[in-house]
Amino acid sequence: MTETERYEYDVVVIGAGGAGLRAAIAARERGLRVAIVCKSLFGKAHTVMAEGGCAAAMGNVAAKDSWQVHFRDTMRGGKFLNSWRMAELHAKEAPDRVWELETWGALFDRTPDGRISQRNFGGHTYPRLAHVGDRTGLELLRTLQQRIVALQQADHAETGDYEARLRVFAECTVTELLTAEDGAVAGAFGYWRESGRFIVFEAPAVVLATGGIGKSFKVTSNSWEYTGDGHALAMRAGAGLVDMEFVQFHPTGMVWPPSVKGILVTESVRGDGGVLKNAAGDRFMFGYVPEVFQGLYAESEDEADRWYADQDANRRTPDLLPRDEVARAINTEVKEGRGSEHGGVFLDIASRMPAEEIRRRLPSMYHQFKELADVDITAEQMEVGPTCHYVMGGVGVDPDTGQSSVAGLFAAGECAGGMHGSNRLGGNSLSDLLVFGRRAGLGAADYVASLGQRPAIDEADVDAAATTALAPFDPPASGEAGENPYTLHAELQQMMNDLVGIIRTEAEMTQALARLAELRARLRHVVVEGHRQYNPGWHLALDLRNMLMVSEAVATSALTRTESRGGHTRDDHPALDPEWRHRVLVSRCVRDGGDDDAVVPRVAVEAAEREPMREDLLALFDVEELRKYYTAGELAGLTRGGP
Ligand code: FAD
Repeated sequence: MTETERYEYDVVVIGAGGAGLRAAIAARERGLRVAIVCKSLFGKAHTVMAEGGCAAAMGNVAAKDSWQVHFRDTMRGGKFLNSWRMAELHAKEAPDRVWELETWGALFDRTPDGRISQRNFGGHTYPRLAHVGDRTGLELLRTLQQRIVALQQADHAETGDYEARLRVFAECTVTELLTAEDGAVAGAFGYWRESGRFIVFEAPAVVLATGGIGKSFKVTSNSWEYTGDGHALAMRAGAGLVDMEFVQFHPTGMVWPPSVKGILVTESVRGDGGVLKNAAGDRFMFGYVPEVFQGLYAESEDEADRWYADQDANRRTPDLLPRDEVARAINTEVKEGRGSEHGGVFLDIASRMPAEEIRRRLPSMYHQFKELADVDITAEQMEVGPTCHYVMGGVGVDPDTGQSSVAGLFAAGECAGGMHGSNRLGGNSLSDLLVFGRRAGLGAADYVASLGQRPAIDEADVDAAATTALAPFDPPASGEAGENPYTLHAELQQMMNDLVGIIRTEAEMTQALARLAELRARLRHVVVEGHRQYNPGWHLALDLRNMLMVSEAVATSALTRTESRGGHTRDDHPALDPEWRHRVLVSRCVRDGGDDDAVVPRVAVEAAEREPMREDLLALFDVEELRKYYTAGELAGLTRGGP
């Protein structure tokens, strides 16, 4: 029997970003004993990096805003592929979640009359992003941590133990979920990053809140934790992933110097007045308004500039089209020779407002460019280009409870799928974390309360998880050199960038899948040196399992979807095809008894039907708009004319 530390909890939350902490708070408030496990330090999650803000139709700056307008914007942004129920819950509940944060101590920027201020962002009809300068995620996470400490203090007052109902296991990586004989969740297996010691959590419910997958791509705004662990853990436990072909390339990452390529330049720069220009100084976005958005955006620079001051009388600037549109436009400008010296385009805020105002509104951006690129954004233009930023695809969940198809397994935040359809609007992630983090925590609590008896862990599964985790320490077979995990990772990232990036073709995806099969075979020969005590090479070798599985899900889904929509652009199928709107691609793990099963099981993708949108929600759209997305047969079945 493998030597492990053992703990028993009611709910184990894997991930301590916004989604994980909000889920943990909800489950603890129901009186359950909750473990929060995170592979980074507590307080260092992607959520702290979120800059622009949290979208919620509070109507503080634009009184006309409402959940219905937010819902419509979200569905349009996702090109009608979103789980409409998630988009509905999100639009309705986001304002309450923001106000709740304020009661827990969050200090948002204010309007002149003292309400929470809201800013413009791409794809949002009205100024809607509650923000704290360009450091919103930091304040959000700080507030949730403060709430956790308050709950721990309450537990201490009652029981004498701060960790009686909430304990944080930081720098602890989960490598496998454990299931009972009937397939229901029974716990999780992992290791302490510092000591390498194994740890087992016995729990009937697990909430996955592990964030995204960006580290499979070379140019990315994501940091080291984003290796798709939750996505892969869910698949190996039997759950399906939805929409994995949809990966968001944020239009504005830094492009120079090479050491910082991919680091995000927040959309707030454009939301607050910054404009994109090509090498000739042209504001090229006016030439890239796609048919589905015709008539909704300004057609001249004058109108676009007036919109910042008067949004009722003017249409918004096309610089604030949804991210997929702007990223493709930049890609085209560069490809056609109108790009900047280092392969990007220019983002100009310097000529648009006084230096002092720029430093006040965008302090992080000012410092980021000054320190990393020696560029003063109050005097010079920024060079920017697309960077892999966010994955719309994730664990398929029930919208109301966050439960996956595996009993006891829940997911929320970036690692869950459905909410954003084919493309996420900026600001809709922070609100997603709060709305669905809370719902997943409550869903897990209800599930635990409904159980007659706790599922039992199979010790053979614990032994198997330990064997897989230790495999990279096995010496290479005689005559073999052994593979280096860093080399494999670099090859994976380059390949995903080149072949499964912003523009895709069938030939490239087929090549990508062949390369992935080769990398999967080579992973079995990865060898790491040293011991289990803090060993980053070993950690990477284990993360690679997840990255390879998730990359296969992305490439296979992208090969299957023969249309272009949102974060999935096929050069060989450039149009949006209504026949694809009602289909969802589901990625699942297949175990065929071969060598790959234990380490990186194969992934298969199948199409399923999306549930049709409820009539009252459909009625929020004009029929003329639906015509752009729905098939003639679907439209013929509509029972009304439009609002
Ligand atoms: P995270 O906050 O990333 O947390 C994931 C957690 O999971 C971490 O604690 C990590 O350690 C843990 N973890 C991962 N794997 C394991 C494992 N195997 N075992 C244990 N723990 C594990 N969105 C907006 O709405 N507005 C914005 O302005 C905005 N700006 C952004 C700026 C940047 C630079 C970036 C990168 C993203 C931005 N986003 C923004 C997106 C948003 O920040 C993320 O989508 C969101 O924070 C994800 O939150 P999460 O709770 O799902 O995951």
